[in-house]
Amino acid sequence: SMASPALLMRVVASAYSVAEKAATIVRNVMSAGDLGIVEKTGANDLQTKADRLVQMSICASLARKFPKVTIIGEEELPSDEVADELIEDGHCEEILKKTCPAQYTGINEEELVIWVDPLDGTKEYTEGLLDHVTVLIGIAYRGKAIAGVINQPYYNYEAGAGAVLGRTIWGVLGMGAFGFQLTEAPAGKHIIVTTRSHSSTLVNDCISALNPDSVIRVGGAGNKIIQLIEGKASAYVFASPGCKKWDTCAPEAILHAVGGKITDIHGNSFQYNKDVKHMNSAGVLAALRNYDYYASRIPNTVKQSLVP
Ligand code: AMP
Ligand code: MG
Ligand code: MG
Repeated sequence: SMASPALLMRVVASAYSVAEKAATIVRNVMSAGDLGIVEKTGANDLQTKADRLVQMSICASLARKFPKVTIIGEEELPSDEVADELIEDGHCEEILKKTCPAQYTGINEEELVIWVDPLDGTKEYTEGLLDHVTVLIGIAYRGKAIAGVINQPYYNYEAGAGAVLGRTIWGVLGMGAFGFQLTEAPAGKHIIVTTRSHSSTLVNDCISALNPDSVIRVGGAGNKIIQLIEGKASAYVFASPGCKKWDTCAPEAILHAVGGKITDIHGNSFQYNKDVKHMNSAGVLAALRNYDYYASRIPNTVKQSLVP
């Protein structure tokens, strides 16, 4: 008989279904109309009822199936019992059928860390820029992002009736990434994607120094990685603290699975061990292709302003 699937594939297959349930919650909270907005550190750092319910759903659902895995979510929530209606116990059969890359077949639950951003792009969610929003579940092993799921609950929402609303992108290092059409940005054009709601002089000075052909300002770290893998932008440049490990873990796994690269602004790789500092203090630099072109042009003055 077939050996039972490797733990990593079971976690990814479950995370896929858990992210789809999360997307339903994100859409339901919006259509119910009461977002229950709370300011965390200020008016540009928000939490809604969707952030809270989705984190409870994802963390409780994954913890039930994988009790020894470390799960770290963005939101600070009371550790109440999670309602049964928030629990997802399904998994994606298609993912379970895939062969786990050999280097990951022996992983135990104790060795995995899951980084959860229940709703990335909350500011944009509250402003009705719904396709900026993603749900991020990143899976790390030995400090490295090795697998990830990005759900975009409102993908296609402006495409009109008949279009399927929402999608789930997933990937594993050594296997590839699925659920979208990998596309390179136009050759010879420098299109930079960056923050929409967390700009600063440094963020803008860094972009100017790269002399881009155009700049796309959109919310969400997940959304910006989607812009890279679908060829809408050639580099994601964010010369500022603010982005956290749960913002970059799932996007990193997917970008790296298709041959891209993401680091801080100095070129240091991100670490995802359970006791790592959450803040990506030295910003974000990412590209699907030609990462070195952008990395070599980040001004030293910008680097000196961002301490890892
Ligand atoms: P953005 O590109 O502005 O959507 O940021 C990507 C992710 O980093 C989102 O989850 C933001 O909430 C987070 N982020 C970036 N900058 C800040 C900041 N200054 N304060 C709080 N969160 C931030
Ligand atoms: Mg986020
Ligand atoms: Mg969030």
